[in-house]
Amino acid sequence: MVPFPGLPVPYHFLHPLFSMAIVVGSGAGGATVAKELAAAGHRVVILEKGPAIAEVDAHRYYENVDTGVKLMRTCCLGGTTMVSAGNALRCLEKELLAFGIDLSAEFAEAEQELRVRKLPDELIGEGTRRLIEAASRLGLPVRKMPKFIDPVECCRDGRCSLGCPVQARWNAVRFVECAQELGADLVTGQAVTRIVTHAGRVTGVRCGSRIYHDDLVVIAAGALETPRLLAGIGIPTSPLFCDTFASIGGVCPGVGFHQDVPMGAYVPHSSSLILTHYARQFVTALKAAGHDVREGDILGMMVKIRDEASGSVGETIEKGVTEPDSRRLACGASIAGAILAEAGADPATFVSLPLRGSHPGGTARIGVSVDTRLMTRISGLYVVDASVLPATPGAPPILTIIALAKYAAKRM
Ligand SMILES: Cc1cc2nc3c(=O)[nH]c(=O)nc-3n(C[C@H](O)[C@H](O)[C@H](O)COP(=O)(O)OP(=O)(O)OC[C@H]3O[C@@H](n4cnc5c(N)ncnc54)[C@H](O)[C@@H]3O)c2cc1C
Repeated sequence: MVPFPGLPVPYHFLHPLFSMAIVVGSGAGGATVAKELAAAGHRVVILEKGPAIAEVDAHRYYENVDTGVKLMRTCCLGGTTMVSAGNALRCLEKELLAFGIDLSAEFAEAEQELRVRKLPDELIGEGTRRLIEAASRLGLPVRKMPKFIDPVECCRDGRCSLGCPVQARWNAVRFVECAQELGADLVTGQAVTRIVTHAGRVTGVRCGSRIYHDDLVVIAAGALETPRLLAGIGIPTSPLFCDTFASIGGVCPGVGFHQDVPMGAYVPHSSSLILTHYARQFVTALKAAGHDVREGDILGMMVKIRDEASGSVGETIEKGVTEPDSRRLACGASIAGAILAEAGADPATFVSLPLRGSHPGGTARIGVSVDTRLMTRISGLYVVDASVLPATPGAPPILTIIALAKYAAKRM
């Protein structure tokens, strides 16, 4: 959008006629808030550090951080939604209600917009079917995962977390495009380096030597960046969680599980989720253990735990595994192993991969960094991303982040 043709785009940041907003980051939180604010008549500019990309190339934009646990995210337009598995669970409803935040209406709205539904049976591949049946035989409460994947478009190549080649899965670029249709401006390749304030109010953001002025600023740079920006102006931050997960796989010749829609089913177990899961790294790990396998010869599962918020984001990022984390992982791994063996994977071949965490969050929590409107103590400065989650979800958080963004946008 160019509000005054012939003038450079940034002109309107100085123009007082419109209600304006700067949104920093274009992932699950940022794209949603940008769309909602644009729909409410705000003149919005989205500042995104990464580039706009072809979705199929999303795997090139991982900017993982290797601490004790490898923390995963992608930095590009659409943020980490560009590599999601399309899993759509409501989480932290009780914890948010304890703060007086009732998201029922926003969840329903988000589920409708993302067209959340369970996968039809024809999209449940052979490996996933075997694992579902094995879990049932073991008496475990196995469920199909609700997805924001269009079953008609899905090409069943199992590569969601590398970037969907046919755009069958919802991602946040769709909300960015809606915001643009409603008049929002998008600037990619623009990393915000500092929040600018004056006398207890936000007045804009700095990107290197350039300043964008505004008195409504929403920080949505993800849980590994947002706390750094907040700490830069003295706002307290909080410890990091990441839903640490272990991947366990074994040989099951010819099962073709690598092309199943990932994480098609899950078993909830105490503080963890045990999901059907293929990882390309299984091939290397199994070959290193002396097994002659191809991609299609492996069955796998993920144990994702509600980890302790024991990490920190400062000049460096730290996240390890506490004793309770280890116990949860071990307990989940024994169940995952039992399901895999029952489904026909050879227990003598089981390998596990290094621990990872794909849901970093909690670093600018409600009650610590922001109030229940998601506003900081600096007037006009909000945070709307995984940083604000008040507890470890132990489950896919995109739907909850979107619902929270809708909730907060109504109150800005
Ligand atoms: C492989 C994988 C699979 C996943 N699958 C699922 C799933 O199926 N379902 C689910 O619910 N969740 C899933 N997740 C988790 C989910 O993607 C994230 O929790 C969610 O996207 C986080 O949203 P966010 O808005 O906090 O951050 P992000 O979506 O990461 O967005 C942050 C944005 O801010 C930008 N940014 C960072 N710093 C700056 C800066 N200084 N200035 C400007 N811009 C900046 C980044 O480039 C990025 O675009 C998955 C994660 C991974 C890694």
